[in-house]
Amino acid sequence: MGKVYLVGAGPGDSELISVRGKRLVESCDVLIYDRLISDDIIEYARQDCEKIYVGKSMGNHSVKQEEINRILVEKAKGNGIVVRLKGGDPFVFGRGGEEVLALIENNIEFEMVPGITSAVAVPEIVGIPLTHRGVSQDIHIVTGHTAEKDIIDYASLAKVKGTIVFLMAANTIADIAQRLMKHGMDGKTPTAVIESGTTENERVTKTLLENINAVSIKPPAIIVVGPTALYDFKSYRKRISVAITGTEDFRNRLKARLIKKDYIVKEVCCLKTNSNITDIKFDRYDWLVFTGRNGVRIFFDHLKEIGFDIRNLKNKIAVIGEGTYDALAEYGIYADYMPDIYTSEELGKGLNEIAENESKLILRAENGSDKIYNFIKNYKEIKLYSVEAERVSKCRENYIVFGSSLGVNTYLDKYEIDDSTKIIAIGDVTCNTLRKRGYSAYCCKKSTVEDIVEAIEYNEEIQKTEDK
Ligand code: SAH
Repeated sequence: MGKVYLVGAGPGDSELISVRGKRLVESCDVLIYDRLISDDIIEYARQDCEKIYVGKSMGNHSVKQEEINRILVEKAKGNGIVVRLKGGDPFVFGRGGEEVLALIENNIEFEMVPGITSAVAVPEIVGIPLTHRGVSQDIHIVTGHTAEKDIIDYASLAKVKGTIVFLMAANTIADIAQRLMKHGMDGKTPTAVIESGTTENERVTKTLLENINAVSIKPPAIIVVGPTALYDFKSYRKRISVAITGTEDFRNRLKARLIKKDYIVKEVCCLKTNSNITDIKFDRYDWLVFTGRNGVRIFFDHLKEIGFDIRNLKNKIAVIGEGTYDALAEYGIYADYMPDIYTSEELGKGLNEIAENESKLILRAENGSDKIYNFIKNYKEIKLYSVEAERVSKCRENYIVFGSSLGVNTYLDKYEIDDSTKIIAIGDVTCNTLRKRGYSAYCCKKSTVEDIVEAIEYNEEIQKTEDK
């Protein structure tokens, strides 16, 4: 038997899930999730995790609760880890209790992992504190879903002095306001509507209770009624988002740098490297030539696989640039040659100058640039690996970063880049490919991730000056 974790995903923003919740999503075998959960959180899951969407929208129950319970029980009877991921907190209008009952009935082990509820977080993120000393001393969280039925005691609710937070009330709040005022609540009570809180579509509207019927509300929305709805403790929080493309190694290094600087990072075009190595007679050559980090990694993985002791590696080694140099240095090996300008052309020319008659083995990608061959002599080439597209999604970020022509072509074959997105590219070849396809980019000469981050910071500085 497996185990079920009922995990709260938080209010929307993919960074507002708990550390425990994220770790469970990353490791689970089955992920059963709702609407209103950010794609980025779903992407934390493993590639081979079974993902089941059971989302429903109000009035349109796409999957009935009994059906969800049945799926949950069935999946838990396999023997993996099942994560049941719910928006906000599972026990705040999440029907988490019903799912727990179904699990208990079937003797299935389960565990609760709380989430940050939208009821508190969404007002907070737009600067509304639900309690404030001397102003609001109590919080009431109410569903607007049952407004037509007489489940809620509006007469008592109308007497509340603190804050009332309505969930699922986008369509019923005008009616609810009428009832509250009929029972004596002041029509001048401050009211705030927050739609799609903590996401890029977040929108705040402030009004008075008596005017709420004039506001058109698009769900999901939180409606705050009470004196603190007037408050605006919104901290200035403009975060820049960056879409990244490329192979896993490149994405991971860039992502780590960007996250450290508090950028929001989204992977929009993932390329996969497939090793083609069989048997390389590399010891016959004077030089090994690497034109990228992936080549280094794949070659040394291969050495490990065949049980080759690195101390026996006698070849001299040339690399195209700093990034490749560093990748090699990770194995404790320092390249013998690196050109001053990091292009395949310069690498070819330079090697020709210092080692024209020595034999060279070029270890590179199947679809790499051919420029090196215009200059180099006395070489053999091995296509170490090929690169293919794994996953492409539409970029909606402030920036998009391309590290190779293949990335550019893979992305542009599927989607356009909006005018509002700035493009950062590494190297002349990548820039040219973009130009050929009708885009202009900010071009980084070096290929290190630090350079990319610097380019974004530089562009942001310019943007700030222009805004002034
Ligand atoms: N368990 C969830 C609530 C589920 S009910 C939680 O704890 O947050 C769904 C309701 O939550 C929506 O109708 C809306 O009122 C509210 N909601 C959820 N996410 C929201 C968001 N990002 N912005 C505004 N309201 C949200």
